[in-house]
Amino acid sequence: MVLTDTHTHLYLNDFDEDREEIMQNALEKGVERILLPNIDRTTLLQLKSMTALFSENCFPMMGLHPTSVKEDYESELALVERELKTKNYYGVGEIGIDLYRDKTFEEEQKDAFRRQLRLAKKYQLAVSIHTREAFDMTLQMVKEELNNDLNGVFHCFTGTLEDAKKIMDTGFKMGIGGIVTFKNSGLAAVVSRLPLESIVLETDAPFLTPVPFRGKRNQSAYLFYVAQKVAEVKNIPVEEVAEVTSNTAGILFFNKKKV
Ligand SMILES: [Zn+2]
Repeated sequence: MVLTDTHTHLYLNDFDEDREEIMQNALEKGVERILLPNIDRTTLLQLKSMTALFSENCFPMMGLHPTSVKEDYESELALVERELKTKNYYGVGEIGIDLYRDKTFEEEQKDAFRRQLRLAKKYQLAVSIHTREAFDMTLQMVKEELNNDLNGVFHCFTGTLEDAKKIMDTGFKMGIGGIVTFKNSGLAAVVSRLPLESIVLETDAPFLTPVPFRGKRNQSAYLFYVAQKVAEVKNIPVEEVAEVTSNTAGILFFNKKKV
């Protein structure tokens, strides 16, 4: 069984003490492919050194996170494109719009998002989208930029069935993580009604730890519990969840049909 963690931040300082062990744990649970989205210029060096060290299993994405869009975002975007030109990346992320705590840079966030969607098309890469308190706006911009070269994932999907249908209409996938295991989230009921082909799995480690480890630091090995929950609510074997979601992730980020 091969699982693909399509969104995780194992390069962050949270894992400096035990990164080897974290990788070993992931491999033992079948999590063999790990996609690492960037945040901003301050995380790039860590991202690069981790993917160099674990190049068999870890694959970098390049992008500017919406909460890192500030006055200097032009130079950040220039860095994003400089990196993408090297062709060392497997996706553009994470990008999007986040108006949860701070709307100061709303216009800049929109501009950065649109321009990174265009970079994804230019370099033929899938995107990993972060959206918070801005779903309609984010979806609208995806629709405006949509063509055959644009595809990707609404990472950390927690929406309704109606939201899911709107995403599926664009051909994008939904990233399902630890929240599906939370009793009160309502997400399990939504996921039970989604086609298995419309989702991919993610941990977003070190955040959003699934049950039974909720409250502790998250890690990619725990993707297994996300897969198990999806299998349970859909009443299918966990192996099938692993195969179909890894296949979808493969088509998106690795451009090949089988893992
Ligand atoms: Zn993230």
